[in-house]
Amino acid sequence: MTKHAVPTHGTNAPQPVRNLRDWLDHLAAHDRLAVLKSNIGLKFEVAAHAKRLDGLRATFFPRPGGHSIPVVSGLISDRGWMAEAMGVEPSAMLARFQEAASRPTPWLEVKSAPAQEVTHRAPLDLAKILPLPTHNEHDGGPYIAAGIMIVRNPRTGRQNVSIHRCQLTGPNRLGVLVLPRHTFTFHRMAEEAGEPLDAAIVIGVDPLTLLASQAIVPIDHDELEIAGSLQGRPLPVVKCLNSEIRVPAEAEIVIEGHFLPGVREPEGPFGEFPQTYGTRSDREVMEVVAVTHRKDAIFHTMVGGGLEHLLLGAIPKEATLLTHLRRNFPNVIDVHLSPGGTMRFHLFVKMKKTQEGQGKNVILGAFAGSFDLKHVIVVDEDVDIHNPSEVEWAVATRFQADRDLVIVPESQGSKLDPSNRDGVGAKMGIDATKPLAAQEMVFKRIRVPGEEAIDVDGILKHSASADWRGALKG
Ligand code: MN
Repeated sequence: MTKHAVPTHGTNAPQPVRNLRDWLDHLAAHDRLAVLKSNIGLKFEVAAHAKRLDGLRATFFPRPGGHSIPVVSGLISDRGWMAEAMGVEPSAMLARFQEAASRPTPWLEVKSAPAQEVTHRAPLDLAKILPLPTHNEHDGGPYIAAGIMIVRNPRTGRQNVSIHRCQLTGPNRLGVLVLPRHTFTFHRMAEEAGEPLDAAIVIGVDPLTLLASQAIVPIDHDELEIAGSLQGRPLPVVKCLNSEIRVPAEAEIVIEGHFLPGVREPEGPFGEFPQTYGTRSDREVMEVVAVTHRKDAIFHTMVGGGLEHLLLGAIPKEATLLTHLRRNFPNVIDVHLSPGGTMRFHLFVKMKKTQEGQGKNVILGAFAGSFDLKHVIVVDEDVDIHNPSEVEWAVATRFQADRDLVIVPESQGSKLDPSNRDGVGAKMGIDATKPLAAQEMVFKRIRVPGEEAIDVDGILKHSASADWRGALKG
């Protein structure tokens, strides 16, 4: 199979992945899954191995800290892997995601599910039931970092799916960071009525359901319907034992509970995507009432700030920003949230400029598309935006700061950017496109004819036995 071969389900056509176990089989078949030794400790040791292998191998930990449930991490730590999970070429990934987000597939309810093979009820001790890892050095404690949180609109019953960091703060208690988005809105609606808000945390789902949870869609769009579209089938779901919430039937583990109205308790710190800590503060509290799981369940964790964490957020954001920009600028070709910019703060835009000044309009359009964006660099169509050195080259040779720089002071940014003032700070845009009127040779990139055709691997293979004196005699 080629490097980007995709999984198949009994046909030759590329198929999207449909559950965690199929995906683990696919990773193992392509030598991308490291099965580590038993009994690796849950405090830092699991995360240390997972982070060290980030981008190289997914990691599987049997009996972590002696626990009977294994831990898996790094399921998607490469853009190419995510494209395979979707069953498309990497270049088609953003368009495929956007298509799924705009054409949801209603789920299919089933009566019995692998996710409910085993049931635990009160009194509950989560740390005994599940292998909960502690990740970064100053994290406040063990965390559920890769669970999708499902809640319902208290009025309409429509579901919302998102990922929140959840700290174990008591035997059946979790401190949850709920930023002001959809879960937050439903939580406040319930709280104002003095009611608890039912919630389910689902751990161990396929990469496409994880990706769907990060879709940027309006409130009352159930992201499980986007997961169905990505998978090419109605997603099988099952009703929770203690609420009306529907959860993916093929998941590994489900934690059922509710947010307590009017209760806030300390949560944090937690190692976050900017490679810095999210602060400790009083946060929403979820009380757990039941845990269900498969007989041989697998627990998924993400290391905060690792590639898996970054990519899951970046791909849906890129897809949304590309669609947003193309509404006004059909000549925008591609966008990329760069790894050096924590895949949230720095956007590279590739465009075929048709009017002078357009680069700056695209910069302003991008900032209007996502408040997280801090720096935007616009380049011409001959620059590879997935290669940061190429983008830097364009800035070095096509940009003048007095002419091509845009600064917007005192605007809304990310609250997780430690350099701004509680989410208020500056935006900077760099228009590194060349002037349309420039003579062709001025900005033309140098190139040696025939360079691309040279067989580098063949030459490198023989260089170890290089005998330049012998070559003189021949
Ligand atoms: Mn939502």
